[in-house]
Amino acid sequence: MQDFRSVILGGGMVAGYAAKELAEQGLKRGELAIVSADTAIPYERPPLSKGFLAGSDPESSVFINNKTFYTEHGIDVRLGTAVRSIDSGARKLKLDGDEIGYEQLLIATGAEVRTFNVPGSDLAGIHYLRSLDDSRGIRDAKADARQAVVIGAGFIGMEVAAVLASGGLEVTLAFPEERVWSRFFAPEMSEFFGNYYEKRGVTIRSGTMVTEFEGEEGHVAGVYAEDDLLPADLVVAGIGVKPVTGFLDGSGINVDNGILVNEYLATNMDGVRAAGDVANYHDVVFDKRRRVEHWDNAVEQGKLAGRLLAGKEEPFIHVPYFFSDVFDLSYEFWGDTEATDRVEYRGNVSTGKFSAWWLRNGIVRAAFVMDRPDEEREAAPTLIQEKRELPATF
Ligand code: NAP
Repeated sequence: MQDFRSVILGGGMVAGYAAKELAEQGLKRGELAIVSADTAIPYERPPLSKGFLAGSDPESSVFINNKTFYTEHGIDVRLGTAVRSIDSGARKLKLDGDEIGYEQLLIATGAEVRTFNVPGSDLAGIHYLRSLDDSRGIRDAKADARQAVVIGAGFIGMEVAAVLASGGLEVTLAFPEERVWSRFFAPEMSEFFGNYYEKRGVTIRSGTMVTEFEGEEGHVAGVYAEDDLLPADLVVAGIGVKPVTGFLDGSGINVDNGILVNEYLATNMDGVRAAGDVANYHDVVFDKRRRVEHWDNAVEQGKLAGRLLAGKEEPFIHVPYFFSDVFDLSYEFWGDTEATDRVEYRGNVSTGKFSAWWLRNGIVRAAFVMDRPDEEREAAPTLIQEKRELPATF
């Protein structure tokens, strides 16, 4: 059994940024191992549903560090390696056919896609998007496809539908809710995006539950939405993800919608931290627990985890953030809309140049900014973190 000072379990974005930060903090050769079920070294995920999927970003541009970074710093990267269990008392990981020991462990196993379990869900041509391989698969499939049904109107659904429609496919976006991006957006914002998609040829099917997939010679040919059959030679489903924690059974590490960690990303077990999509952390800005599945959270918690592994004890104090690019629109979002009592707009929602500010008792809690003066996007996280009122000058 090989022993390491630090082991990062999971080879996604957190691992890439934590390793980079550790290297900057003076990592020594042989001190760090990364155990990853993925077959690729850590890569950025945003391009997988945007530029890489569209074919505009080359594969070489998605990696967080190049291959030589890991060899130069003597980092043992074990790809295609699943963890079976953790013995947190003995500080050991059981891998497929091997064991490794750690002094400190960072769990960054991320999340896995929710999948359909309805008749026909095992047909070829039904895709989910999480990994580089998945994105490559959809990119290749779209080259020969004509009619796509995209299921889900969250981030994957909205971004993939935009890429496929921009690539000339006939796209139907089917989802159970009343409106697109309903989890974060006010109704008028969803209406703007719904209209924008329709103008670009996407057929919007809200209130639609998928009940079955139709096949022809083992390949998907259509999607049953209750009584309707939506023809499709390509299906991409983005119906959410769940944190990867099954291997923690019996480890004594507390799990409840992800791994419970404090603001130092520390679990209840000595020497074990968690970060990224899998971590249900104490957000000190909003004083509540949350699990965030966005790029920025993986980057910022990854960097902090690197510093923590290097012995620098510092808390995670960060306003949650995400961005999205769809068609020729780009927006950013900060904060948390929960328990807000009012939304104020600047600009005009119907023109696509607007910001939205969610307030509670006049204090800014969340902000959405799209095609507005830089001053607004620069102010948003500070206003939220410092619990300030919305400036009248915006
Ligand atoms: P998501 O954003 O959570 O959206 C999933 C959507 O699918 C939700 O609207 C959900 O509705 C719906 N849904 C759930 N079960 C369904 C079913 N059986 N049939 C049809 N729709 C169903 O998740 P995602 O789009 O799959 O993305 C996965 C993760 O990647 C997310 O955590 C997301 O944050 C991340 N991501 C982020 C970005 C970005 O930040 N720009 C881009 C891509 C991916 P309910 O809300 O009613 O459950």
